Amino acid sequence: MNKLFGGIELGGTKCILAVAETPMSIIKRIELPTETPEKTLRNIFNFFEDYDLESIGIGTFGPVVLASESEDYGLLVSESKKGWKGTNLFAEFKNNLSSMIRIDTDVNAAAIGEYNYGAGKGTQTLVYITIGTGIGGGVLINGKPQTGNFHLEMGHMLVPNSDNFRGICRIHGDCWEGLASGPSIEARWGLSPSEIPESHEAWEKEAELLAEGIVSVIANHSPDRIILGGGVMKQKHLFPIIRDKISLLWNSYTPLGSLSKLIAEPALGSDSGIIGSIIIASN
Ligand code: ZN
Repeated sequence: MNKLFGGIELGGTKCILAVAETPMSIIKRIELPTETPEKTLRNIFNFFEDYDLESIGIGTFGPVVLASESEDYGLLVSESKKGWKGTNLFAEFKNNLSSMIRIDTDVNAAAIGEYNYGAGKGTQTLVYITIGTGIGGGVLINGKPQTGNFHLEMGHMLVPNSDNFRGICRIHGDCWEGLASGPSIEARWGLSPSEIPESHEAWEKEAELLAEGIVSVIANHSPDRIILGGGVMKQKHLFPIIRDKISLLWNSYTPLGSLSKLIAEPALGSDSGIIGSIIIASN
């Protein structure tokens, strides 16, 4: 019998669970709402109990302790998702399932998925940014996540707030996530992103805010590709506006090459994260 691996994309709104023989051959996949830790983890354990898995890879929202030698490995350290602060994912899985567990951030998992099978193939410095319920980014250097002392939290960098919007980040107010995430668009315009027509000025503003953050990412990491995923980026018309604004802001300071190659859509669609989680499990 072939080896089986588990993958989990643990998001703030929903989680995706999968069992696979290889990252691109998923044999079972389900989605669940992310509720309280007790309820959500019980549902996750119930799903995986039926399988004999080599290991499980988890791409989770953060901030989460990623140093595997730490006794707090897998600990969620902030109330970014209400009720989850203090949950230790590694300890919970170890106590409830026999499979080996490997944990990374949701955006690193998505970056790893795209690096191996999608729009990040062959890149030296790859950035994956999700713009949805929140904003988060992961950086891979030759396929390996840059973690730093904790892990990157580029969604919480500061960008210009030219109209003094209060922002919706519960920690910082008007950080990048506070100004440009999906809930921020809704707070600013009183309409959910899916209800806002393409011609609405909201998108020009959104593209400006995203371009400002991305220019800082370019200045700090000089990536050869930046993949923009997440619910807000399903608005495909944002891509050309963002590219134009990046070009204007960067002002030819260093060569960026083709903007349509630099700023890319995820080739794996909304599966980047779950495929990446299975890669994390099987590595
Ligand atoms: Zn913030």
